[in-house]
Amino acid sequence: MTATERLAKPQFRSARNAVIAALLRNKQLARSELSKITGVSPAAITEVTQAFLQRDLLAELPVRTTGRQRGRPTVQLQLQASHAYFLGISIDPSAISMVITDLHGRVIEHMVLPGPDTPERLVAEARTAFNSLLRSIKIPRSRMQGVGITITGIVNADEGICRYSAALGWRDIPVARMLTKALRLPAWVENDANAVAVGEKFFGSARGMESFTSVMLGPTIGSAHFVHGKLYRGYDDSAGEIGHITVVPKGTLCRCGRYGCLDTIAGGYALRMAAEAEGMKITSMRDLEERASRSETRASRLLRAAGNGLGLAVASLVHLNNPQAVLFTDIEGFDNGVFRTAALRAIENNVMPRFLQSTQIIFGKAEENLLARSAASVAAFAYLNSI
Ligand SMILES: [Zn+2]
Repeated sequence: MTATERLAKPQFRSARNAVIAALLRNKQLARSELSKITGVSPAAITEVTQAFLQRDLLAELPVRTTGRQRGRPTVQLQLQASHAYFLGISIDPSAISMVITDLHGRVIEHMVLPGPDTPERLVAEARTAFNSLLRSIKIPRSRMQGVGITITGIVNADEGICRYSAALGWRDIPVARMLTKALRLPAWVENDANAVAVGEKFFGSARGMESFTSVMLGPTIGSAHFVHGKLYRGYDDSAGEIGHITVVPKGTLCRCGRYGCLDTIAGGYALRMAAEAEGMKITSMRDLEERASRSETRASRLLRAAGNGLGLAVASLVHLNNPQAVLFTDIEGFDNGVFRTAALRAIENNVMPRFLQSTQIIFGKAEENLLARSAASVAAFAYLNSI
């Protein structure tokens, strides 16, 4: 081996990662664009893409020509959707949602089961359901490359352990090891807010972003932060607990034992309780927004307080992290009403103008199977990082 070859080897490894990262961000690229974006030499790009084409990881798209190049053909490359498939599982006390996605994050099949009472029951039911999903999609088992699972609670993702989930009553459960054994697939466990952020980065509106904050508006409120392309977990796997930022000093008692946390005025669970206490029967936040739109003061007051509290907490996050964007995922179905308006106003009023100009605030509707699909994207990300 010559000195040049020895030097070229580690470069080739990182070139592979760079090519995958560029294709995740840009969907499809020509070899020359890949070289320009990654800073990898055209010769190394040819070598890497050739190896990926042979493994069926890349697909060459039909040639298109551009006017500027006077008809010169440009072969575009993209990740091959059918190269690998992933199982995504999200669990909450009432339901287990399962999806199978391809490498582009498209849901091929899905299934919902009743919520699990024990981790052992979850694993047993997941195994039966996985076999039935496989039969229905008719994809060879060998193409399944991993399973991701999301849990509301504190997760040690490196060790695949659910350290604590108040919602499920689980403590120190080796979920990844149990699933790997039962499904014979590599398994990854992730906190649900983190998984949503990974999903946004993998197939959502954060594809092209390296530093962003994702806020999940569900029964409780969670957040996650990508910093320079990496998920920031904190010292003890607990980063992003936005729901427990104090927004009402001496406010309502929170399940964490303190008072006035954001969850107590803006979490879906707390809002439903507050609406009920005020004599309003609602099944979703859409009902509460509808009451507010009919000038029902009780509903407007709750929604305004919730939006305002959220905006205050998010303003702090923007000052601390300087994200390119804050992406809200609205699982509760507030849509564009009093809540969102109050949140946006509170952000505008409490963020320094310099940050306001550089931070995009994006509200997205949670699509069906969002959490399970995000769980699958955690497995897909891990798989692509291992290539
Ligand atoms: Zn709290």
